[in-house]
Amino acid sequence: MKALSISYTNFRNVENERLTLCEGTNVIHGNNAQGKSNMLEGLYFFARGRSFRGAKEKELIRFGEKACRLELEYTCEGYKNSTTLTAEIPSQGKKNLMRNGAKLSGTKEMIGNFRAVLFCPAHLSLLDGGPAMRRSFLDIALAQLYPAYIDSLSDYNKTLAQRNILLKEAQTSKVDPYLWEVYAERLAREGARLAARRLAYVSELSSASAELFSEMTMGREVPTLTYKCDFIDEKMTADEIISEGEKTLYRLLTENLEKDIRYSSTSYGIHRDDIAIKLNGKDAKLFASQGQKRSLALSMKLSEGEIAKKLTGEYPVFLLDDVLSELDSSRRSFILSRLSGRQIIVTSCEEELFDIDDVNFIPIEGGRIAK
Ligand code: ATP
Ligand code: MG
Repeated sequence: MKALSISYTNFRNVENERLTLCEGTNVIHGNNAQGKSNMLEGLYFFARGRSFRGAKEKELIRFGEKACRLELEYTCEGYKNSTTLTAEIPSQGKKNLMRNGAKLSGTKEMIGNFRAVLFCPAHLSLLDGGPAMRRSFLDIALAQLYPAYIDSLSDYNKTLAQRNILLKEAQTSKVDPYLWEVYAERLAREGARLAARRLAYVSELSSASAELFSEMTMGREVPTLTYKCDFIDEKMTADEIISEGEKTLYRLLTENLEKDIRYSSTSYGIHRDDIAIKLNGKDAKLFASQGQKRSLALSMKLSEGEIAKKLTGEYPVFLLDDVLSELDSSRRSFILSRLSGRQIIVTSCEEELFDIDDVNFIPIEGGRIAK
């Protein structure tokens, strides 16, 4: 998958600009606050369906304007024609997404068309951060690979939110017991499906990360990643998780209802899961050095691209926001050499970090390509 060009209209501080991208390394560079990350945010919008900076859609519109528009042209391996995705976000009303000019029903239909792996400095804390960060890592990767995952996850999250509201209400008033049944059944059904996907993904992630980590560190320490989930056994097959896991989660939800009401929160389910990361059998969160933690996080991120290639037949586009300047020179050259031959789009204040051949340098100043 290769992005060919992207046009921005009234997107963040970019009034009107079009970037032409090369198949290899593209470096968007310039001083602070010129619009480099904004441009990457626009690209990633097509992969994720939203901002990677947690911004609300309307915040993407240039101050004082009524709407913004993004248009991405990309190619997929084996296809003669390129594809165009368009996003129009008005300050009032719903956004409009299109694929080759035809209206898409919504974000869910768009995700999975253009695939990208995003890498930003926050990802370097993938090990030190809380479980929510690692779950989100899995969800973002899986959503781009399996469209049904998005439906299951949004159904699960909605049901969970409704159950939690009801748990609070149950402290002061009587709740129809039938409702607990409905929620437990739905959470168990979707939860088991999601857990099956996550478990399979973490197993792929574990072997890919181990390979990358040993290449990066030239060391003998071997990382292992396992999916931690209360209602499944890591040796279960996907079919077993869907049948057995669903029953177990249903039982746990039902048995713990009193406790859940007391704490107004749902104590079992995939919203509690985590990835356990070990280095030579020891908890990496507790025992690995800062450098090893960074290398592990980098291996996991690079693996995301390898798994996508394995499952879809082609590499996604790699988007690196400011991350290279955070790394020492050996990790930086490892990443650049490991990603050579793939498309990468990097933002950086330091153009001189990219002393490699065939780089498409894009200088940015005040939301425009500098002349
Ligand atoms: P750094 O090197 O510090 O990361 P950057 O070039 O990546 O800088 P961006 O994060 O892209 O900078 O932001 C550039 C500018 O965009 C900021 O000064 C910000 O005020 C401005 N900006 C953000 N949102 C909007 C908006 N909706 N309308 C207009 N300008 C905006
Ligand atoms: Mg930036």
